[in-house]
Amino acid sequence: MAVLTGVSHAAEPLALCFAPPHAVAPDVRSQWQQELRLILHHSGYELKLAACTPESIELRVLRSNPRQPQALGAARTSQSRIEPVVEIYLDPLAELIGTRLAGPLGRAMARVTAHELRHVVGQQAHHQGGDFPEGYSAGLLLAAKPAHFRIR
Ligand SMILES: [Zn+2]
Repeated sequence: MAVLTGVSHAAEPLALCFAPPHAVAPDVRSQWQQELRLILHHSGYELKLAACTPESIELRVLRSNPRQPQALGAARTSQSRIEPVVEIYLDPLAELIGTRLAGPLGRAMARVTAHELRHVVGQQAHHQGGDFPEGYSAGLLLAAKPAHFRIR
């Protein structure tokens, strides 16, 4: 049985921005945004998409990472911290899920984005398995519930 506490917390704004060039078709971007908004809602955050400022987390959509061709995304790290820069790699992601259709591709992008945001927001360099694994299967990226990817 579900337990409801009756306490509602105000969502904390999470500012994200697209760094140019954002090589994402408008319909993919809209699916991406819709799914990310949902995941952030489950995480207690409200998505704020705006121009880049020093406070925002920068989102870079790239074809792939030449140094790690299988990687789906990455959070940029320096010696002491995880930088507020998230990269999403479109080609390996589309190859894994087997489609570039806006619905599934946008949703998968949002789920990889949420994973990378968890590294940044929690300053977590390491994975813990469970809902914070080192990699995802196509099935999980496509079929799991949005709450599975929540940031905590
Ligand atoms: Zn990771």
